[in-house]
Amino acid sequence: MAYVSRNPYTGEVSQTFPDATDAEVEQAVTEAHAAFLSWKDSSFAERAKVMQRAAVLLRKDVESYATFLTVEMGKLFSEAKVEVQLSANIFEYYAKNAEALLAPQNLPVGNPAEGKAMLVHDPLGVLLAIEPWNFPYYQIARIIAPQLSAGNTMLLKHASNVPQCAGAFERLMQNAGLPSGGFKNLYATRSQVERIISDSRVRGVALTGSEDVGAIIAAQAGKALKKSTMELGGADAFVVLADADLEKTVKWAVFGRHWNGGQVCVSSKRMIIADEIYDRFLDGYATGVAGLRAGDPFDPDTTLAPLSSQGAADEIKDKIRQAVRHGAKATAVGPKVPNRGAFVQPTILTDVGESNPARYWEFFGPVSMLFRARDEDDAVRIANDSPYGLGGSVFTSNPKHGAEVARKISTGMVFVNHPTMVKADLPFGGVRNSGYGRELLGLGIKEFVNHKLVDVVDIDAEF
Ligand code: NAP
Repeated sequence: MAYVSRNPYTGEVSQTFPDATDAEVEQAVTEAHAAFLSWKDSSFAERAKVMQRAAVLLRKDVESYATFLTVEMGKLFSEAKVEVQLSANIFEYYAKNAEALLAPQNLPVGNPAEGKAMLVHDPLGVLLAIEPWNFPYYQIARIIAPQLSAGNTMLLKHASNVPQCAGAFERLMQNAGLPSGGFKNLYATRSQVERIISDSRVRGVALTGSEDVGAIIAAQAGKALKKSTMELGGADAFVVLADADLEKTVKWAVFGRHWNGGQVCVSSKRMIIADEIYDRFLDGYATGVAGLRAGDPFDPDTTLAPLSSQGAADEIKDKIRQAVRHGAKATAVGPKVPNRGAFVQPTILTDVGESNPARYWEFFGPVSMLFRARDEDDAVRIANDSPYGLGGSVFTSNPKHGAEVARKISTGMVFVNHPTMVKADLPFGGVRNSGYGRELLGLGIKEFVNHKLVDVVDIDAEF
């Protein structure tokens, strides 16, 4: 059985879930389509009530929702509680803003004969969300809050290692009052996913996941002529200019690379440091990383979580070995991580040359690549020398100049003096191999709507 709840700290399997049957998948699509036919005509006020109720329910029960996260993918309990709150904030954001974001828009026309032109934003239909395990709730909220608010209905195929989180969110939406069929979690197989995408009642697919799976799902969507958004991997540059406040920058670097066990698409994976301060940064950074404490993710003193599975830990260790085989230097940092749990020893990679393939990989765990930049232009060049383009940071004591440097970095999001941040009211998404489309805000809610022109023309107007 593919869907298994296994605690990555203890190794214990608490529950397994059988794959969906084809009949269950067919029924879910049928019900989602039926739900769409009435939900699309519901008022924004009605949808907002459901979104607000979902936010309230999450906030009322933060600890029990957070427990599933820690038990299934090993997230620190403190971070799990923040994720529950963040998900609630996203529901609330759309409860408050969806109507204004999708308000019909009058178009200025050059000639009265063109009529009174207006853009309206109609929902498309049933959508499929395919989501990863690293933020099991936030990833779902990021897509269902805007899309349900727009009047679409949703099916979910979640990662196979977080089935309880997926089930918890399905119940959340039922309890929030979403009409039956509006949001359904399916323990779907890959061939069922392909069939769902090609079903004519399903009008789009949103994937958050790896580059390889993005290519597969985008191809399936393309073949079926369905709209898709792809939120894929990243290797964020963390650029430190010579005038940065080193002590504070180092603290952010340690956090930016290691929160969520280093398994964030927007983790600060590549540190690019001005030549003048490189050695001091490296010393401070290694000391900071050595101060992390790996252990039980429920223990409030733990600051480094296990990876989501032993398989993920083994994969990272193999990637470190390959990086070294291609000429990199790997330095293990800090006290030895516990044998119990899917831990990887925090590792700093230096001397990762331009011909080393690892330079262009995404390390999804506590592995930091450090690069020495000759000057600012060189730092920007290294930052942009990546197949990915998701987030990024520039640290400097001159924020105005930082914003100028940020403009030169080719990614979807750049922060000055902060690692890439995730919030309910900031947009999310990337370019190049990090995917296409945006989630959150007006950009996200408009990804799966028909921007329909309605034009009222005087019957006597000239052609
Ligand atoms: P993944 O292997 O790509 O899996 C993502 C989802 O796709 C899971 O639900 C997975 O299900 C499903 N999947 C895999 N192969 C499939 C197929 N052939 N057909 C249909 N569904 C398939 O990614 P992951 O390892 O879980 O997550 C880590 C990756 O996600 C990293 O690259 C990370 O950077 C990226 N990510 C990106 C963002 C963003 O917003 N840009 C956010 C978070 C994570 P199974 O579990 O059943 O394989």
